[in-house]
Amino acid sequence: METHWDRVMQKSAEVFGDFQHSTGIQRKELLYKIAEVLESLGDALLQTAAEETNLPLARFAGERARTCTQMRLFGDVAAEGSWTQAVIDTAIPDRKPMPKPDMRKMLVPIGPVVVFGASNFPLAYAAPGGDTVSALAAGCTVVVKGHPAHPRTSALVNAAIQEAAVQCGWPAEVFQLVEDDSFECGKYLTQHDHTAAVGFTGSLSGGRAIFDYAQQREVPIPVFAEMGSTNPVLLLRDALQHQAPAIAKALAGSITLGVGQFCTNPGIILGIRSSILDHFTSLLAIELSLIPSFRMLHMGIYQQYTTKLSSMLDTNGVETIYHARQEGQMVASAVLARVDGDYFEKNPSLHHEVFGPFSMIISCKNMAQLTRIWQQLHGQLTTTLYCSEKDLKAHPELGGIARSLAGRIVFNSVPTGVEVTHATVHGGPYPATTDSRFTSVGTDAILRWARPVCWQDCPDAWLPPALQNVNPLGIQRKVNGEFTRTAL
Ligand code: NAP
Repeated sequence: METHWDRVMQKSAEVFGDFQHSTGIQRKELLYKIAEVLESLGDALLQTAAEETNLPLARFAGERARTCTQMRLFGDVAAEGSWTQAVIDTAIPDRKPMPKPDMRKMLVPIGPVVVFGASNFPLAYAAPGGDTVSALAAGCTVVVKGHPAHPRTSALVNAAIQEAAVQCGWPAEVFQLVEDDSFECGKYLTQHDHTAAVGFTGSLSGGRAIFDYAQQREVPIPVFAEMGSTNPVLLLRDALQHQAPAIAKALAGSITLGVGQFCTNPGIILGIRSSILDHFTSLLAIELSLIPSFRMLHMGIYQQYTTKLSSMLDTNGVETIYHARQEGQMVASAVLARVDGDYFEKNPSLHHEVFGPFSMIISCKNMAQLTRIWQQLHGQLTTTLYCSEKDLKAHPELGGIARSLAGRIVFNSVPTGVEVTHATVHGGPYPATTDSRFTSVGTDAILRWARPVCWQDCPDAWLPPALQNVNPLGIQRKVNGEFTRTAL
């Protein structure tokens, strides 16, 4: 297999030679074409994804729409061009004691990118997902290590992207899929000489392994791994007092969405021990009992869920509040547990993600314990506050803690459902990701696949168009400290 994987990477590097010089307009054309071809696959693609994941067809209509919207958005970003952060500091030849040179910089594509997708989103976070489209938008070629949980979906996507590439006049290998279910493959691709960066979405153990493989390379490369998270939710007193039924309903929906197989699933709920919290706990259990159980994505994820769940529920101090116990092959029962803050503080194993429809209420003895526990959790993709203005006024210290803990802070709404916007951050401190400076969702995701280059005293004709005096692309640039679209 190694010869095959090597050929794939050689080809990716060869195609990158030209593709890195494509214009933003050309990349927009490619991304729009890919979206068009994926849409033209109609129900065949949705059906295949549904068959391979046990998720309903309707879910994939939504996931494909999101994937294609994301693709077109990145196409627009590529064509608009300001993402390259062009900066020009013009020369001052008569500066004393030394003349100041003309300095111009912009971001350029980093090289062939290897992408590992997660099994829970075969479209939005896998072969045609955010990592692939942001890398193509930046001008990088892409090699995807297909997830063995949905091989037929990946094969359809691969054919669609390659067809679109050829229709746009590019070699098919601007995008390539490697199908293999061995860890050796992931290791090989990560360590290949031509790999310039890696994007990963999946478990903490997987992301950490890929990151570690990259550390063993002679030439270091960045690994942008987005991994699991428990997405702590804070229930503040005034909000809970006035909105307990609505919060319980919203959280029950969020905990069970996609059979709990979302990286933004609210796995930890923090509140202060009181009759209001008890009332809320009963409401949440009732709401969960109204939601049917479904099959999980695949046997591996189901086994992990049941194993981690048993170990969580067997832990000293953990009380099972609701356990759906619905029968069927790979059917995941929703579970709500509760533990006192004292036990939670003493047992770090309770901090870990249980990937599935599970959530645990941490009943804290007072606000001091709640904030301490929240603050001591590992880095998170999201954290949520159910709060009123009165709650926030009473606890101004919460803002700083939230910011240091997570990449996205949600107010009075559930963490599941990640909007693709220019402002989105889907990232956070380790172990949510391996690089908290970046996001894997939202248009800033493109920044992972580029590096800055500075041209000093370069003749105008030699500069990339983004930096030439007349600003032929009409992009926003920072010229001598001021943002402008005007020519020099
Ligand atoms: P996974 O088991 O980590 O698999 C993801 C990919 O990584 C697969 O292609 C897998 O290869 C590869 N991989 C895993 N361990 C490896 C190792 N030691 N060496 C080489 N390759 C390795 O993830 P999953 O089961 O698909 O997804 C579930 C997890 O993803 C959950 O924990 C969830 O929270 C997380 N997730 C995170 C996000 C996010 O944005 N942060 C989004 C969705 C899901 P094989 O195919 O060979 O197993």
